[in-house]
Amino acid sequence: MNFQKDYDVIVAGGGIAGVAAALAASARGSKTALIEKTVYPGGLATTGLVYIYLPLCDGYGTQVTFGLTEKLLIASLKYGPGDIPENWKKENNAIEEKRYRIVFNPASFILAMDELLEESGVDVWYDTTVTRTFTENNLATGIEVFNKSGFGKLNAKVLIDATGDADLAHYAGLQCPTRDNALAAWTLEHVANEPGQRDLAENVKMRIVGCSNDKRTGEFLGIDGAKVSRFIRKGRKKYRELLAESYESGRNNRKDRFPLFLPAMAQFRMSRRIDGEFTLNDGMEWMSFEDSIGMVADWRKSGYVWEIPYRSLLPRGLDNLLAVGRCMSSEGDAWDVTRVIPTAAMTGEAAGVAAAMTVEKRTTTHQLSVKELQQQLSSKCGFPLHFEDVGTSRPEK
Ligand SMILES: Cc1cc2nc3c(=O)[nH]c(=O)nc-3n(C[C@H](O)[C@H](O)[C@H](O)COP(=O)(O)OP(=O)(O)OC[C@H]3O[C@@H](n4cnc5c(N)ncnc54)[C@H](O)[C@@H]3O)c2cc1C
Repeated sequence: MNFQKDYDVIVAGGGIAGVAAALAASARGSKTALIEKTVYPGGLATTGLVYIYLPLCDGYGTQVTFGLTEKLLIASLKYGPGDIPENWKKENNAIEEKRYRIVFNPASFILAMDELLEESGVDVWYDTTVTRTFTENNLATGIEVFNKSGFGKLNAKVLIDATGDADLAHYAGLQCPTRDNALAAWTLEHVANEPGQRDLAENVKMRIVGCSNDKRTGEFLGIDGAKVSRFIRKGRKKYRELLAESYESGRNNRKDRFPLFLPAMAQFRMSRRIDGEFTLNDGMEWMSFEDSIGMVADWRKSGYVWEIPYRSLLPRGLDNLLAVGRCMSSEGDAWDVTRVIPTAAMTGEAAGVAAAMTVEKRTTTHQLSVKELQQQLSSKCGFPLHFEDVGTSRPEK
């Protein structure tokens, strides 16, 4: 090993889930490291150009997700040019139907997250890839990383897997379910006189190339190196073809339509996840859990809200590892609900608090008192934990 360092909490993966986890752990006084293989915070949301912050509300005017999830949403707008919907500017729980969702500029969000991370004192390691997880008697104890300095060993009392692909759990030898994807390539382009719903600014819009998520063929699995590369090449080829077709047809020319930026990470919606102590599954919306650590709204349709149980962040068979965001334990349709930005931020923050409390109380993530965790989440982070806390309920048919 070329270097070694000790932390209380290590967060692997600097996507939205990882950033929220690191900020939350550090805010409670834990010596925290955030390890990210690219040079940007934000993962798919920024590096992957997925620039819609999906709703924090139930679709009937009631906000269900708070804390860092909302703070990050607001931060994403700081350096322009997006806005919060008018009805959500006035007060929380504005009783209006327009959902609390925004379009943000990925580059602006990167700057804002850099700022939050700097202020927090989190030790951020960019351009550093996790290559191995160390375990000892069913406890996660550290990771091996690789960067320009060579290989290093980073030790921690608690680890958070925010890699989106459950890399830490997989490297620890745990069985992790996988799922394939449809082809996707979201790009940012300049296109004149083609206003649309998802415009970032005048003449700047998102161009979505690829199939709907229903069209999965097994060709694209985000945990297979060769398939990842093929996915990226195919997505960019499709986009080249789209541009060529629009020039040849005379609809556009290379002066009024051209790419501004392309995703710098593969846009896999789901790849690999932990097999948790509890797995959220289809039909579990409106199910109340005693160990709920917060709520998220179904982004696809109004009137569906999910409580997230603490157990869905805890992998079976390994203590002191929490998994958040895209790689928490969800299956089927529920995975499609929990894999998005608001859930990443919410589970990240909850795991960051849980990790710091585990360190403070010299216990393990499995033995941590859920009651005490819930008490801290609601009193310190402003999390409502159950449907009745915000007065949302299953709408009448
Ligand atoms: C095509 C597509 C469209 C989407 N549309 C939307 C949308 O409109 N709105 C929405 O809210 N969500 C959308 N999503 C989902 C959403 O963007 C992500 O799922 C969410 O941001 C997940 O965040 P995360 O932090 O869990 O994971 P990720 O964003 O995947 O972050 C993981 C991070 O870990 C890093 N990492 C991975 N492995 C390692 C390693 N071994 N070592 C070090 N670092 C590592 C990665 O570089 C990355 O930065 C979409 C996703 C896709 C693919």
